[in-house]
Amino acid sequence: MTIVVVGSLNIDLVVRAPRHPEIGETIIGTEFKTFPGGKGANQAVAAARLGGAVRMVGRVGSDSFGESLLTTLIADRVDTHFIQRDPEAATGVALITVDEAGRNTIVVASGANAHLTPKDILDAEKLFRDAAVLVLQLESPLPAITQAIGLARKCGAKVILNPAPARKLEDNFLRSVDYLIPNQTELSLLTGLDSIQASIAYLHNIGVDHLIITLGEDGSIVAENGQVTPLKALPVKAIDTTAAGDAFVGAFAVALTENLDAISAAAWGNAAGAIAVTRLGAQPSLPSRKEFDEFLKRLK
Ligand code: ADP
Repeated sequence: MTIVVVGSLNIDLVVRAPRHPEIGETIIGTEFKTFPGGKGANQAVAAARLGGAVRMVGRVGSDSFGESLLTTLIADRVDTHFIQRDPEAATGVALITVDEAGRNTIVVASGANAHLTPKDILDAEKLFRDAAVLVLQLESPLPAITQAIGLARKCGAKVILNPAPARKLEDNFLRSVDYLIPNQTELSLLTGLDSIQASIAYLHNIGVDHLIITLGEDGSIVAENGQVTPLKALPVKAIDTTAAGDAFVGAFAVALTENLDAISAAAWGNAAGAIAVTRLGAQPSLPSRKEFDEFLKRLK
């Protein structure tokens, strides 16, 4: 059974500089690199590296950035046939400046990602027919996401939503998701509540049956039908937490396709997240299945 990821694809343009420039100021940076990114693409790669059969639906521009994103996805064995090339909009980019202290500023120009339509999703209907799991984030337009949930429901696929970047969502929309996986910031934005316990109760009351909260170095919490299970983070030396959440979601999705329950799937998420934080970058830090299995074996 396959995993369908509907989501964003971006090129990350990263400049290192001694400090961030003031408004109107030009400074000389030290290094420039480009990386494939976008939460959708990162989660697709995370799942594919762990052995998932992943198909992605999204939009890139008809430009060289779009071309290079498709090439990297194909190299990771992600099926890209339903990634449209937008004739007008540019490929999404994230302009990232990192200062000497490692602090970043990020401007995202969504470009083609913002043009993903419900029709793009309907055109990909055949992907949903063999899908066990649909994986979504919030870097794509809500009408397209809502259409994808509708198709997944119709075809019997389970829906995972990673509500990132954080925003408030309708109760009805939240209820239509099978597994909601926010981090702590996203959780409080979703519920308008600071306390994790109160947020769990709120989401349970509106009908979210499986809530998995990622807590960085504190691991994660699985809350299902009123049962709350905390899972400790695995002990690693973290050097870059970029894409930890994407690694978690990708691993969780693959675990569901291997018929694991939410608690075991979250344990996989914790392990993939832990490996990702020990390495630099987003997609380069995502583990292969072999690395993942060896990491788990060492823990035993
Ligand atoms: P996001 O990247 O979305 O903010 P988190 O920071 O919550 O997500 O990280 C996702 C998962 O990655 C966590 O639930 C945890 O399992 C793992 N993780 C993150 N940071 C660490 C860390 N310092 N040590 C071990 N595991 C970590």
